[in-house]
Amino acid sequence: MLNLVRRAAGEEAVVRLVERAGIGRTQAELEDDANWVSFDEGRRLFEAATEILDDPRALRKVGVAIARRDMTSEVVELLRQLGGPGEVLRHIDQVVPKFCTVVQMEAIEIADDYARVSGTSVPGFPRFAHLCDFTIGLLEQAPIPFDLPPAAVVEDECEQRGDRRCLFTVRWETEPSNLPEYRVAALEAELEVLSTRFETFHDTAADLVGVADVASLLANITSRARLAVRAPKHVLAVRPTPDAELAIHHEGCTASELAALVDELMADDPSDRDGSRLIVEVASVRQAESYGRLAAIYDEGVRFFPAERSVLAGYARLAAAALDTATALEESRRQTETAQALLDLARGLAGIGRSQEMAERLAASVPAVTACDAAVVMLWNEEDRALEVAATEGLPAGIEALVQPIRISTADTPMLAELIAHPRSLLVDTESADPFIAGLLAAVGMQRAWIAPIVAGETVLGVLAASFLAAVTTPGAAPDEHLLARLDGLADIAATAFQNAKLVEHMRHQAMFDPVTQLPNKRMLEDRVEEALARNRRVGEGFALFFLDLDRFKNVNDTLGHAAGDELLRQVADRLLVTMREEDTVARLGGDEFALLLPRVDNVALARAIAERLYAALQRPFALGGQQVFITSSIGIALAPEDGADHDTLLKNADMAMYQSKEQGRNRFGFYTPALHADLSARLKLESDLHVALQRDELFLEFQPLVSLADGRRIVGVEALVRWQHPELGRLMPDAFIGLAEDTGLIVDVDGWVIETAARQARAWARHGFNPHMAVNLADRDLRDPSLVSRVASILAATHLSPECLELEVTERVVDEAPDHLLATLRDLKALGVKIAIDDFGTGHSGLSRLRTFPVDTLKIDRSFVHEVVNAGDPAPLLAAMIRLAHDLGMSVVAEGVETEVQAAFLVEHGCDVGQGYLFARPQLAGDVLRLPRQAEGDGRAAEARAGDRERA
Ligand code: C2E
Ligand code: CA
Ligand code: CA
Repeated sequence: MLNLVRRAAGEEAVVRLVERAGIGRTQAELEDDANWVSFDEGRRLFEAATEILDDPRALRKVGVAIARRDMTSEVVELLRQLGGPGEVLRHIDQVVPKFCTVVQMEAIEIADDYARVSGTSVPGFPRFAHLCDFTIGLLEQAPIPFDLPPAAVVEDECEQRGDRRCLFTVRWETEPSNLPEYRVAALEAELEVLSTRFETFHDTAADLVGVADVASLLANITSRARLAVRAPKHVLAVRPTPDAELAIHHEGCTASELAALVDELMADDPSDRDGSRLIVEVASVRQAESYGRLAAIYDEGVRFFPAERSVLAGYARLAAAALDTATALEESRRQTETAQALLDLARGLAGIGRSQEMAERLAASVPAVTACDAAVVMLWNEEDRALEVAATEGLPAGIEALVQPIRISTADTPMLAELIAHPRSLLVDTESADPFIAGLLAAVGMQRAWIAPIVAGETVLGVLAASFLAAVTTPGAAPDEHLLARLDGLADIAATAFQNAKLVEHMRHQAMFDPVTQLPNKRMLEDRVEEALARNRRVGEGFALFFLDLDRFKNVNDTLGHAAGDELLRQVADRLLVTMREEDTVARLGGDEFALLLPRVDNVALARAIAERLYAALQRPFALGGQQVFITSSIGIALAPEDGADHDTLLKNADMAMYQSKEQGRNRFGFYTPALHADLSARLKLESDLHVALQRDELFLEFQPLVSLADGRRIVGVEALVRWQHPELGRLMPDAFIGLAEDTGLIVDVDGWVIETAARQARAWARHGFNPHMAVNLADRDLRDPSLVSRVASILAATHLSPECLELEVTERVVDEAPDHLLATLRDLKALGVKIAIDDFGTGHSGLSRLRTFPVDTLKIDRSFVHEVVNAGDPAPLLAAMIRLAHDLGMSVVAEGVETEVQAAFLVEHGCDVGQGYLFARPQLAGDVLRLPRQAEGDGRAAEARAGDRERA
């Protein structure tokens, strides 16, 4: 819950949460997973969180977060075994006791798309509303393992409202529509496997032109196929020409079984043996007949994945291409240049995942491979049923500009329809082609062109065109068979490459886009923001990041249902898209949160204008199932790079600004400012409040005893710790206002008051015969105040406190920086007779040796070192060394934050003088300190020791 509050409202809100809950536990204690809270404490935290976040749904989010945290992929796998959300809920009585001991849950009714579950309190732990919200948050997650969107949960009956039990109806959708985070991770893993396979494939393609003869090439293809499709046996059986002998290549087969296997394989309709054999044709694109077959073979009973068929088919196509180009290869090897081009292409394509780049590379290699004058790669656009120019090579600039926008639809020429229906290579020239094609050729100044379709399975992905300036020299001469074969080879490599690219693009799309709105998701946004930041570093161009959150979106979800909620999100997405410029990125971060990345919007005025335009666009009602719905939104704006040099910071800051807008009443936008960190308005108010707090006597002190470790935990000192009884916010701890006081300079007055009050208190105690030394904290700023020394002197004079009873704690930073005048100030203080302690030692950078030059009496070791000691026997070498060295330097050592007996024992063993911490006593009011057992009154031994103390002082 602390994390949730932190994410939603920042660190400061966490501090407020802990205080508002008022359960006497520090934040550190609560953050520690090892600690339990009682039912009542939990309840107060629940209530405080809801108030602080001003979000009635806050507790649901905690439930969601907890469920999500526990949904590791193994858990998901386990839950999936159950079959569906209903089955998960059916077992709820077994699940709940594992993480909650105060409620019993039970499935009452389970149907296909809904379930009813009841909850009854264990006696003594009465239900309260926030607990129900929390439960709803958990129940919402039941469908997640099944790739379904969260369930809609309604509480029909509630114990707290007087019903016998709480009764929840959980409804879920049965069609997957969402892609949860962990699925994205899984997808990425799959993607990785795929790319490795593609690389192997392309290495093989590269062999196509590198290997000496077709036979060894085929052998190579067979063994590579085995790397890509894992199976114990692979067989390739082909007949290079119809009447040639059968060439057989295999991996993993014994000689005895091979003949039978090949016979089965080459039968008219070979059996796949119940899915344990994957058999693909080695068929030429050009020729009708098949060369033979390639098979991957498992033991019977083991099956292949459907995806593996297309991988193996890719290898079969390579084998076919090898046979197709067998003759052309002879030729191309003679023209090493050509061979090299094919090789480069195959290698190059392996690393590329995007269609456009692929097309460009392909176009570039066509002239080298086919000796044509210009090449064009066109890709098929299924939606428009047209071929579009994707890349060109070798065209004069003027013509290229002309060619780029060309689209050929099936309506333009019957030839295209024919090509799509029966893909095959063809020759077109200005004489023979239909008027449309002839016109195109003439327009680009070409006489004839070879066109090779890029075909995957049955589908035409595009075409490769190699065009020539000259007409065929001798009319009627046979077309150049070699060139044609090589162009086909290229088209074939291209087909697999494009198919792979499509797969990769599809998966990337799934991982990068939000399934509900089709907007980029937060991953993609992150990429774009990083790009924009890189651009900023290069050319100094700024940009804006908007964080947009719909106000009260949950009302729509709750009243109209999730489907309507999704529809609203889509409509909002559309509005945002039409309002924004083309170059802007509109992303959905999740839930009802959107982010907008606006390049070149680099100043407040411009950003403001756009925000206003957005508000105007969102103000119009949305139509949802015949109803008009009005929705407002809150926007936070961060400008880059001023408000953050990396994606996380920018988004966090925009989010913070958004939260601020929400707090100020929603339906508004606001800019991030650095001061927002401490919650701008609250901070401003707190600052003005602090001014009057001193006059109104709202500050008070608590005192935390410091005990002698060697001597029966006798109280030898106290540390004065300031608190502020704020009229509205209640009791504030120093962390909430000391920083503010330092920033504004008020600290000087605050600490002046603290020293004086503490000194008076010490005198008052002395009258009761209680003489602990009084430690007071000084801020760095205090030391820079020129009147500090004289003020301390006059306080001592006024209160008649003996100076050696006052110890001033300064931070290690003072030693770190140590400008001369600070050192002088410390010496002047020493000269008054007061003691100096270094607080929180170990958190800064100063070495102990540097301390030698400082007039320091006491070293207070920061509690983080003490907390290193967890179990008896823990070594904690730093802590031990600090104690030793401090003693060598003649200082007395205080260990802070002692919380356990184990720590105390360690400290005693290592000779630490004094301890401070919850183990001995918490900070408390002066009167309570006096009531602590002190073993002082009437205890001669302790009194003696005290006298000894004084002497040493
Ligand atoms: P500090 O000087 O390190 O004070 C000790 C803090 O540790 C106190 O928190 C105390 O409640 C806490 N503490 C004591 N024992 C334990 C323990 O066993 N475990 C844990 N986890 N914590 C323990 P508090 O009162 O919230 O004070 C926080 C800080 O505020 C102080 O840290 C000090 O730096 C500053 N501060 C407090 N009063 C004043 C003041 O009058 N003037 C100035 N300038 N700073 C003050
Ligand atoms: Ca201190
Ligand atoms: Ca301290």
